[in-house]
Amino acid sequence: MNCDMCGREGQLFDADVEGSVLVVCTSCTKFGTVLRKHAEEKYVSKYVETKKKEEESKPVNIIVSNYASLIKKSREKRGLKQDEFAKLLQEKESAIQHLESGKLEPSIVLAEKIEKQLKIKLIEVYREPVIAESSTETTRGPLTIGDLIKFKKK
Ligand SMILES: [Zn+2]
Repeated sequence: MNCDMCGREGQLFDADVEGSVLVVCTSCTKFGTVLRKHAEEKYVSKYVETKKKEEESKPVNIIVSNYASLIKKSREKRGLKQDEFAKLLQEKESAIQHLESGKLEPSIVLAEKIEKQLKIKLIEVYREPVIAESSTETTRGPLTIGDLIKFKKK
């Protein structure tokens, strides 16, 4: 059993897509409203399921984009001067200046030290969205109902 919209195999759902009930994969559920898990779910090959789980569980540590203002504000709140803060972190004062002006993104190790000193959160866990991988496959596949709906919406 494959997805009615993109033809992919995988976890399938019965979904209401613009008034008709279609069997769709996880990534195509966004085109409609999920009614229930598709009954033929048990035939999904183990391979597909394991592969998907691996893709989902790939967390990457990233530095928040507003780290510069976060560090500056929290440091000032604590009444620390840049040189005092630098000493606490065992970093050069110039490094702190660069961090606070956004010229230098801290390494994860440095960010952890700053987090502890200022009690702020600088590191975010980012997970690769699985959708990105499946949407490239959609474009490669044959024309499906999903494609037609996409064309209609343009
Ligand atoms: Zn699909």
